[in-house]
Amino acid sequence: MTATIIDGKKISEIVREEWKLRADKLKAKGVLPGLAVIIVGDNPASKLYVNNKIKACHEVGLHSEVHDLPEDTSEEMLLKLIEELNQAKQLHGILVQLPLPKHIDESKILETIKQDKDVDGFHLYNVGALMTGNTVFPPCTPFGVIRMLSYCDILVAGQNAVVVGRSNIVGKPMAMLLLQEDATVTICTSKTKDLISHTKQADILVVATGRPEMIKAEHVKKGAVVIDVGINRRDDGELVGDVDFDDVKKVASHITPVPGGVGPMTITMLVANTVMAAERDSGNSPTD
Ligand code: NDP
Repeated sequence: MTATIIDGKKISEIVREEWKLRADKLKAKGVLPGLAVIIVGDNPASKLYVNNKIKACHEVGLHSEVHDLPEDTSEEMLLKLIEELNQAKQLHGILVQLPLPKHIDESKILETIKQDKDVDGFHLYNVGALMTGNTVFPPCTPFGVIRMLSYCDILVAGQNAVVVGRSNIVGKPMAMLLLQEDATVTICTSKTKDLISHTKQADILVVATGRPEMIKAEHVKKGAVVIDVGINRRDDGELVGDVDFDDVKKVASHITPVPGGVGPMTITMLVANTVMAAERDSGNSPTD
């Protein structure tokens, strides 16, 4: 068996077009969706992610602005900037690129973003909303995975879904969204005993560990759908996922590549959340 490769780049372009139409409808009514991205410090990976996010906003015709702050920016200054952006009428979304420098309290920053503008979905209110099934802003990466599965007509309801990783930005919200789609969900962590015994049960396996190529064919049930969230740069400069692509594609039915899998979907869903925020703020529903 050789798995079907899920082309995240292509799917993200198609999905982005859907959101462009929704943005165009808003623009026709005089509402220009706007996103502010804040980046602190010189982390090259973060810079690249921010550039890609801004590029996607341009492509869809959204207003976007970057606040590029030096590494030694104080927490107080950052909080003040967020308060200003919270009040800015032309902005519907605010995103603080993570990680932040150590001297800044990440949770305090995330709680300061107005919840209606929290397009990453990391504010406690939005985390709670996700937990209760009344999701306001689904976190972009898991949202992208769900959209990808639906685009590929992959059945989720009733399936065994195993998520490897429990971070607040990927693993936990991924598990919640799969649960909302009626999957039977297992979450594995670095403390899980006998990981293989769990991953082998998965009809849908989502991996977000940051451990390069740790998932091998032996971890995967024949015919499973394997979604690789990981992005790791090897010493030779090559980008690889958390799944050993060449090995696992021999047993999976579907697999996402790295790069070109989940990454582009994450960015598209940020655009989606920004357009949704603008729709809500202006009282326009997508069917208007
Ligand atoms: P974190 O480091 O925050 O979390 C990693 C999780 O993986 C932890 O819960 C950890 O368990 C678990 N883990 C680590 N090693 C193992 C193991 N051997 N077996 C089982 N579980 C393990 O990472 P993130 O969730 O932020 O990111 C994960 C990966 O996804 C990274 O490669 C990151 O770059 C990528 N990423 C990609 C995005 C995209 O758009 N494609 C977006 C965001 C992240 P424990 O809690 O016990 O420590």
